[in-house]
Parts: sequence; C-alpha cells; structure tokens
Amino acid sequence: MSQAPDAAPRPTANMFDVEAVRAEFPILAQEVNGRPLVYLDNGATSQKPRRVIDAIRRYYESDNANVHRGLHALSGRATDAFEGARDTVRAFLNAADRREIVFVRGATEGLNLVAQGWVRPRLGPDDEIVVTTMEHHSNIVPWQLVCRQTGARLRVVPIHDDGTLDMEAFAGLLNERTKVVAVAHVSNALGTINPVREIIAMAHDVGAVTVLDGAQAAPHGAVDVQALDCDFYVFSSHKCYGPSGMGVLWGRAERLDEAEPYQGGGDMIRTVSFEESTWNDLPYKFEAGTPNIAGAIGLGAAIEFVTALGMDAIAAYEHEVLEYATEALGEMGGIRIIGTAPEKAGIVSFVVDGVHPHDVGTIADQNGVAIRAGHHCAMPLMRRYRVPATSRASLALYNTRADIDALVAGLHKVKEIFDR
Ligand code: PLP
Repeated sequence: MSQAPDAAPRPTANMFDVEAVRAEFPILAQEVNGRPLVYLDNGATSQKPRRVIDAIRRYYESDNANVHRGLHALSGRATDAFEGARDTVRAFLNAADRREIVFVRGATEGLNLVAQGWVRPRLGPDDEIVVTTMEHHSNIVPWQLVCRQTGARLRVVPIHDDGTLDMEAFAGLLNERTKVVAVAHVSNALGTINPVREIIAMAHDVGAVTVLDGAQAAPHGAVDVQALDCDFYVFSSHKCYGPSGMGVLWGRAERLDEAEPYQGGGDMIRTVSFEESTWNDLPYKFEAGTPNIAGAIGLGAAIEFVTALGMDAIAAYEHEVLEYATEALGEMGGIRIIGTAPEKAGIVSFVVDGVHPHDVGTIADQNGVAIRAGHHCAMPLMRRYRVPATSRASLALYNTRADIDALVAGLHKVKEIFDR
C-alpha cells in the first residue's frame, strides 16, 4: 500500500479462494450466541491462520532455546528461525537491509522507540512535531511526552469532513522548525488511506524526518519503504495475522545508527564496564533482553501466508467487500458513516441514529457479529466529529459479503429494538 493518487490499478478481486482461506483459520469455525461467528473486529486484532499457530507450537515443541547466545543445536535452530523471520520482514517491507528491521512489542513500542531514541535527543523548545487529527493515541502521546521533555510544540493537521487530510493546512504548518512529521498510513477509525508519498516529500522539503504508523496499512496492502522514502515505519504483528506482543520498527540505517538505545540490557551491548558501555550493531542495539522469539517466528509465518496470497490481491479483495459494506449500510437509512474518503482501506465506522454505539455492538454480538464500539483510541478524532464513540466494522482477507449481510441483519435488529 503506497498511497491514493498514484496507486497501481487494482488487480481483480477474485485472485484467491476465500473459502480456502477461511478454512485456514480454525477460530472462524465456531458459533457465538448460537450463530456462526462473524468476525469484523480486525482493526483491533486479526485472527491467526493454522500455519502461524503451528509455527509457534513447532518452535516450542522442538527448537525452544535462547537466541544469539548458546553454542548448542537448539540455540542454533532458534537463532536461525528468529533471524529468518527478520529476512521475511525485510522482504515484506522491501527494506534495503536486514539491519533496518528492529523487532519490538508492537506499533506502539516502535513509535515510542523513535520518539525517545531519535527525536528526543535532537529537539529543543523552538522545534515542532506535526501529527494529524486522525492519529491513534499511540501516534500522539509519545510525541506529547517528547514535547514535555524538550519544550517542543505539537502541531496538528486538520481533516475535512470526509476524513481526508487538509493538505493545504498541512503545507501551511510546515516550516524550518518542523523536525518530525508523524502520520498514520491508514486511519484506524476512518479507514482513510493518506497520501503518504506526498506527505513525506513535503516533510523532507523542510528537512523534517517522517514517521509512518502502518498498523492499519501493512496487513492490507503492499508496503515498500524504499518507494515511500520515509525515515521510520512501524506495524504490529497481531493485526497482521501474527501473534500479539510482537511488532516491527523499520528505520533507515542511517537514522537508526544516529539513534540512542531505547532500553539497556543483554544483547544490545558490545562491551560493558562500570565506567562505560558500548553498543551492539544494528538492529541489536535496540533489542535489549531476550526477545519474543516465538513472536518473531509466528510473524514470519504470517507474512509468508499473506505474501503467498499476494498483497495486491488482498487489497483488491478487501476493497470489494468494503464497497459492498458501504453500499449496504448506506441503503439502510438512519446510519451515518464516519469517514467517506475516496481512498479507504476496509474500515467502516458508523453511528446509528439515536442508538449508543455500545448498544449497537452488544446487539450485534447477540447475533454472532463481532464489531468494535468506542473511541478507537482516537479521542481527538471523535471530538472532531462531535461523537463520543462510533461502531466499527473492520475487514480482513477472510471476510465475505455474507459477513456483511449478517452485520446488516444485526443492524436491522438494533433499529427494530430502538424504533419500538
Ligand atoms: N496505530 C494505529 C493506527 C492502530 O490502529 C493501533 C492499534 O489499534 C496502534 C497504532 C497501536 O498498535 P498496538 O496496540 O499493536 O501497538
């Protein structure tokens, strides 16, 4: 997934067999409240295919050992599998160098690492960090912390009513004080795909460093960090069919070399004395302590799974289901979709007239349909739309039109109950 305007034409949607894909996800074959499970909360976390579960089980059953440390066979196998996953992630992001792939706990930790490791030591009271109104709290609060620590100022790009960024306002915010531009590649609460190449180029023109939050982008389309030309990119494994507690920070080698270590401990050092310690090479300088070995192996298996299906095919398929969902909800009446940008990923946020989103979520659940209701960790965005919360259906590669039909049936139930 690069960006809207110059994106490649979408391939046709039926490039993979969705029923065969669904069969790979054991959790989907269950009933909830007497109805077949319809899982539409993939923005929060995705389900895991059998091969990811198997890869993790295999590791614990036959290869479990610490990495980079032991001379014995199991440690060698664990290290090979762990480092193999790094190679898989490198290819997934088209990073130039495997040293640029840092394993972290998730997108949140990746953003905090950049904020504290690279940004904080370089910022002073005259500097500015630019974020947007649609950011997840994970791409707001780490920058607020840095602002508090350094005296720098947070600037916020407004959005239009349809959920697209106000690019004119963005241009107006950029100046020689702008040191960092941190933007969601895809909004978790609106689905907007931001014009990130343009954003990155504009930020670089004023000498700012660019940080992309790819938590909602990486699972749903091809990401090429070299083509994007950003400085840092983060995503979470658990939204990408991999295990939780795992994520990736990609950073340009030059930037990672400049950054201070984020945490101290084993593996991140070259030498330690009581007078002074020196740091390990990239990426280990940022991977203090025993890493999430099974997590990396599981993520590697997840990425192999999605790349075998084809990221462009996944994007095209999910887009088709998104269009179906948008139309179906639009036809119902009494439903307002929040986020109607022309370029969207598979997220439909909505409010039902006169019904609290939590009630919508509860009634949907009674019909076996899992959606999210709340502020989606985007309180400033909720304020922008003057709503306390929204209901959100978020798609993954295993969702079908039948899933949307089940959601619509649940929403008719909501209306029946509240129209009484
Ligand atoms: N950024 C966005 C856009 C998200 O949607 C999320 C999670 O919902 C995050 C960051 C944080 O991800 P995690 O909690 O996996 O660190």
